[in-house]
Amino acid sequence: MSKKGKLTLLQRLSKKQLIDYIKSINASDYTARRNYLGGSTQISEYITRGAISLPQVRDLILINNSANDAFKLINELSWREYWQLVWRVRGDEIFEYIKLLPFKPRQGIPTAVLNANTGITVLDEGIRQLKDTGYIDNHMRMWIAGLVCNVARCDWKIGANWMHSYLIDGDFASNHLSWQWVAGSYTGKAYLPQQDNINKYSNTEQPGSYLDKPYEVLEKMEIPPELLEITGTLPSFGVTLPQSTINVQELSNEPEILLYSPWTLDPDWLPKSKAPRVLLIDEDMFRNTYSQNVLDSIMWFANEIKDLKILCAEPQVLSALHTQIIRKDYPGTVDWPGRVEKPELLYSAIPEKFYPSFSSYWKQVEKLQLFPNHRI
Ligand SMILES: Cc1cc2nc3c(=O)[nH]c(=O)nc-3n(C[C@H](O)[C@H](O)[C@H](O)COP(=O)(O)OP(=O)(O)OC[C@H]3O[C@@H](n4cnc5c(N)ncnc54)[C@H](O)[C@@H]3O)c2cc1C
Repeated sequence: MSKKGKLTLLQRLSKKQLIDYIKSINASDYTARRNYLGGSTQISEYITRGAISLPQVRDLILINNSANDAFKLINELSWREYWQLVWRVRGDEIFEYIKLLPFKPRQGIPTAVLNANTGITVLDEGIRQLKDTGYIDNHMRMWIAGLVCNVARCDWKIGANWMHSYLIDGDFASNHLSWQWVAGSYTGKAYLPQQDNINKYSNTEQPGSYLDKPYEVLEKMEIPPELLEITGTLPSFGVTLPQSTINVQELSNEPEILLYSPWTLDPDWLPKSKAPRVLLIDEDMFRNTYSQNVLDSIMWFANEIKDLKILCAEPQVLSALHTQIIRKDYPGTVDWPGRVEKPELLYSAIPEKFYPSFSSYWKQVEKLQLFPNHRI
C-alpha cells in the first residue's frame, strides 16, 4: 500500500508472492487508510481472476492479525461474497433496476466522463488511471458512479458497462450491483460525490468546483453544463483475442478435461490431475467489449497455470462433447457445460436466498456466529 493520497500500483505477483503479501498486510493500518486513495490492498484482480479464494485470503490475514483487527478487511471481503450471492440467487435480474428511481434517468453517459474532462480534477485523473491501468480505488469508483448517476442523472447501466469494460478486476456482481447501490436502485438511497469528501480522501483541494456544495444543495442541483452532453455509444476496443492452442475436435478425444474460465484461473487447482487444462474464452463476449488491459490480465493469470491450453469459442460448443468436464464455480458461467465444484465460501452455512441489503446479510453472519468467532 502507498502513502495516503498517492497510488502505487501493485506489480503482478506469483501465487507464492501473493500469499506472502497478504500475510504481511497490517489490518489495523488497512482499517485506518482504506477509504483514502491508495490505502487498500489491491488484491481484487487476484480474487476476480480466481487466483485465490476469499476464505484463503481471510485465513492468510488472520495469521498475523487478530480477528478484531481484521474486522474491517474481512467485512469488505464479505461484500464481495454478498454480491456474488445476490448474482447467484437473482441471476440476470442484476442487470436490471432492482428498484425503480423516482426520476427517469437520461439514456447515456456524459461525454466528459468518457473523455476524462468532467472539470473535477481528481475524477479526471481517476478516469485516466482507469483507462491506463484498469484499476481505481473503491472511493474513486463511487465518486465516478455518483457523478454519472446522481449529478448527471444518467442510467447506471451504461456507466456500469463502461467502467466494467476497463476494470482488470471486473466482475458483474461487484460492479453492476455497486452501480445500482450508488444510483439508489438497490437500497433506495443514492450516493452523491461531494468536493470536501473528495478533497479529504484524495488529499487534494479544488475549491469552487460544481461539487463544492453542501449535500442538500447537490441533491437538488441542476445538471452542470460540463455534464449535459451525453452519448449512448461506448468505445469499441477491437482487441486481438489470443490464438486458440487446442480445438474442439482434439478435446472430443479426451475422457476428461479441467475447464477454466477467465474468473477461475487458480494455479493450484487439482494439482494431481493429469487431465488436460483448458481456458475457455467466450469469443462473442470478449471480442470488442473489453480493453486490452482486461485481456492482458486474463492471459497473465493463464500463463501462471502450467500447460494451460486456450480455446476461443462459444461455451455451447463444448456441450456436444462426451468428454467429462470439471470446472470451478462462478455465477457468470452457470450456462457452461460440465460438473461444477462446490463454491469456496467465507460463510457456507448461510442459507442461499436473497438478502435485500448487506446489513441484513451481515445479521445472518452474526446470528450464525460465523464472525468474529472464526479462528484458523
Ligand atoms: C461503482 C463500483 C464498481 C465496482 N466494481 C467492482 C468490480 O468490477 N470488481 C470488484 O472486484 N470490485 C468492484 N467494486 C468494489 C471495490 O471497489 C473493489 O473491490 C476494490 O476497490 C478493489 O480494491 P482492493 O482490492 O484494494 O480492495 P480492498 O479494500 O483491499 O478490499 C479487499 C477485497 O475485498 C473485496 N471488496 C472490497 N470492497 C468491496 C466492495 N465494495 N464490493 C465488493 N467487494 C469488495 C474485494 O474483493 C477486494 O479485493 C466496485 C465498487 C464500486 C463502488
